[in-house]
Amino acid sequence: MTLSLRTNAFIDGAWTPAASGMTFRTYNPGTGEVLADVAACDREDVNLAVAAARRAFDGPWSAIAPTARGTLLRQIASLIRANAADLALLDTRNAGRPIRDTRNDLVRAADIFDFYGGLTDKLRGATIPVPPGYSAITIHEPYGVVGAIIPWNLPLVMACLKAAPALAAGNTVVLKPAEQTPLSALVLAELCQEAGLPDGVLNVVPGFGETAGAALAENTGVDKIAFTGSTEVGRLIMQAASGNIKGLTLELGGKAPNIVFADADLEMAARGALFTVFHHQGQVCAAGTRLIVERSIHDAFLGLLVEKIGRIKIGLPEDPSVHVGALISREQLERVESYVGKGLAEGGRLVTGGGALRDKVPAGGHYFRPTVFADIAPEMTVAREEIFGPVLSVLAFDGEDDAIRLANSTLYGLTAAVWTRDAGRAARLPRRIRAGTVWTNMINMMNVAVPAGGHGQSGFGNEYGIEGAEGYTRLKTVWTNFAEHPVGWAL
Ligand code: NAP
Ligand code: MG
Repeated sequence: MTLSLRTNAFIDGAWTPAASGMTFRTYNPGTGEVLADVAACDREDVNLAVAAARRAFDGPWSAIAPTARGTLLRQIASLIRANAADLALLDTRNAGRPIRDTRNDLVRAADIFDFYGGLTDKLRGATIPVPPGYSAITIHEPYGVVGAIIPWNLPLVMACLKAAPALAAGNTVVLKPAEQTPLSALVLAELCQEAGLPDGVLNVVPGFGETAGAALAENTGVDKIAFTGSTEVGRLIMQAASGNIKGLTLELGGKAPNIVFADADLEMAARGALFTVFHHQGQVCAAGTRLIVERSIHDAFLGLLVEKIGRIKIGLPEDPSVHVGALISREQLERVESYVGKGLAEGGRLVTGGGALRDKVPAGGHYFRPTVFADIAPEMTVAREEIFGPVLSVLAFDGEDDAIRLANSTLYGLTAAVWTRDAGRAARLPRRIRAGTVWTNMINMMNVAVPAGGHGQSGFGNEYGIEGAEGYTRLKTVWTNFAEHPVGWAL
């Protein structure tokens, strides 16, 4: 690894310790080793960062032509690509995410900056047909200062997915990475500076949610908050953002249904069913954690899953042959264990897994065996709550209506998948499932050009796609009377 670690905050183009002098420790969840001590920002640091972002917005950033902004963003994409191997390893070491996944993340991170770099001069408004002698046009204006708060599961992708569209739309940004994974966001700041992004346009304030995060969400100098994280914290963010009526997008939790009909390609469906819930140890918002299987194939399909689970390799995340790496922390491992306890207590049948893995893995890491529960009813805790670990709950269904009833028996609505060879059903079902994204005969595919967002308590707003950048703009309408039509009363 050749990248030097950055451990201070990045505020107004300078590497700055926290005003309090405090730091916090960040670890490698795969080994338990300490990686670095990082500045623990609080309200004072956030205030400085927001003030710097405001100056940059009022100053150089608004003066740059959209095409030039695009060139800068594409330069950042090139620098991400040039440092991809180091950045993938950094995220793998800080997040416990297998290297086979972070290598893909790095392709995506660079693509995000390229895609939004290409959009800076394409966020067009409209000219609307109105009566003769008038014109009405709409303009996409940036909000101003965007506060971005992100989780630990895909650290660099999350940072890029907030920063790139916000910057493309002409905003400046203050980013708070998750306390567990602050390192790659700081490297991103360094690459942005190297690309020539003016000081203050992107600021990174590592720290805790209750301090730095809350201070950012409340700060009345912030015009919009873009948040990805749990539904629970999403509620707090909504309240904090109400002070000055900030713009808001919330990408929250999920409890995705994955529906398998008897007529599906069962080999593909089994591969999908395992990948969706066990890749990155199940710590993925879009994980298909509720497997809803047609009763006639239920037992055979479970057998197929168990056989394949035996071939999953669990271990040190930086080993390229590993499929399943480490959970983010000991607390997360204990949380997953407690859900397994609830699953058993409420009548779930443990098919495989069910506990931590301690053999042939580094002693200080947090490894958990891929776990499958059968005989699950929709009211059970493991079917309702987001576990964020490698735990699959299997429910049986009889007929299409029953499948839909089970799929929609959740407060969440992020993603869903359907496996069937019946073309009519494949067209019908996505419209009946409450979710922001539905995959048919595939699962967990994302693309920078394709918008994604939650329904229900999975949040609102979209990321990715043109819509992802439009979400960082407000529409302004400008009316003009160019025929000098009389106005108001002839008094
Ligand atoms: P989290 O606990 O909600 O934290 C997310 C971020 O919010 C972190 O940076 C956190 O800081 C910060 N935060 C915590 N309390 C805060 C407060 N009172 N005010 C302001 N900020 C606060 O989520 P997580 O555990 O990091 O990530 C897992 C969750 O993210 C899951 O629910 C998952 O489904 C969701 N997620 C959703 C998507 C999506 O696109 N919908 C994608 C990925 C993950 P700390 O790091 O200090 O806690
Ligand atoms: Mg947290």
